[in-house]
Amino acid sequence: MSTLTLFQNATHWRTGERVTIAVEDGVVVPIPRRGHEHARVLDARGAVLAPGLVDLHVHLREPGQSAKETIDSGTRAAAAGGFTAVACMPNTVPAVDSPAWVEWVRHRTGNAAHARVYPIAAVTVGQKGGQLAPLMAMARAGAVAFSDDGHPVASAAMMRRALEYARPTGLPIVCHEEDPELRGEGVMNEGFTATRLGLRGIPGAAESVMCRRDVDLAELTGGRVHLAHLSTAQSFETLRDARRRGLPVTGETCPHYWILTDEAVGDYDTNAKMNPPLRTAEDVRACIAAIADGTVDCLVTDHAPHTPDEKNRPFSEAPFGVVGLETALALTITFLVEPGHVSLARAIELWTAAPRRIFDLPEVDLEPGSVADLVLFDPRSEWTVNPKLFYSKGRATPFAGWTVRGRVLATMMGGRFTHLAPDVEFEHQLVLPAGAAT
Ligand SMILES: [Zn+2]
Repeated sequence: MSTLTLFQNATHWRTGERVTIAVEDGVVVPIPRRGHEHARVLDARGAVLAPGLVDLHVHLREPGQSAKETIDSGTRAAAAGGFTAVACMPNTVPAVDSPAWVEWVRHRTGNAAHARVYPIAAVTVGQKGGQLAPLMAMARAGAVAFSDDGHPVASAAMMRRALEYARPTGLPIVCHEEDPELRGEGVMNEGFTATRLGLRGIPGAAESVMCRRDVDLAELTGGRVHLAHLSTAQSFETLRDARRRGLPVTGETCPHYWILTDEAVGDYDTNAKMNPPLRTAEDVRACIAAIADGTVDCLVTDHAPHTPDEKNRPFSEAPFGVVGLETALALTITFLVEPGHVSLARAIELWTAAPRRIFDLPEVDLEPGSVADLVLFDPRSEWTVNPKLFYSKGRATPFAGWTVRGRVLATMMGGRFTHLAPDVEFEHQLVLPAGAAT
């Protein structure tokens, strides 16, 4: 006997209308007019119902680094953050650089995961930049994109070849843009704070010159380039320029780049150490402008968990990376929607339909027939970020102790709840009188 779930009186994410959405057997269905023996009804008044969020840039750390995160803990964190799908980066140990490893990730994430997991495969063997990985075979095995994320593809000639080989697969190359020599031994943004702290700096140009290069290579080859975690004003300008030229180039950015500057490093706080590093106030303004005017195609977290021991090392020695899945929606609402930079509907689109288009993932909506991958959230509910309560094994976030608005109440994947806030209660109804659900 199948169970009917009703989200009653929810606010539709796009239209703002009050709606009741019914889910049965894993899909959205028309509201039944007859009685139903097994119904659970959720009073969603005051909450917004939307397709489940999608994060194209997540590090799940498996295989090989399960002390940092596992597919289980990472997707549990995703569900808590309102995500029903994530794409995972191949910079694992070993790297996902063969069809066998792509299949391993797909198999591993099959039924156990709390979110759908789409593997991204490496561009080069071992992500070492020397030899092209078997892109076509990995695409056939189920990879949704290629990336050496964690590292750039340093050689322009190698990137050209990768784009030529990726082109027939139709999949994008996700580019971690960083000129290794310009970055040098840098550990944070080059500027006043780095100087004050006596830390070696990474100039913004280390990112932006590589963006330019890969936009030009997209034009040369016709291959698809997706610029990862953009952080500088010049990089956003390059993306804008690529769009104007009609090139097959897309780009993403992360919450910390539209909220924080390098001053967040404060006194060697490794919770503000990520790559690319936090930049200047001008870069933050450029990031927001690029999101607001549609230059940025989608939002991602770059969820990059490390063990607390690793992050507790001295600033120069600690690894780059912070977690992001469980704070992303609230940081979007608090710092993009509430100040009026984008509408709530546009913000949700940047976390749902937009990333789905870039990686060609199946569409999800609230219409009957759609798979029931949904998130219910209260956009006004205030909460304080407490990393101790994260489901992720990673605890490093620059937003610990911040009060934010927008709380996930329930996440549903394929009709099954993958996350429920403690205060969400169902009304179980044995028989629904006909018409009662409208
Ligand atoms: Zn990266």
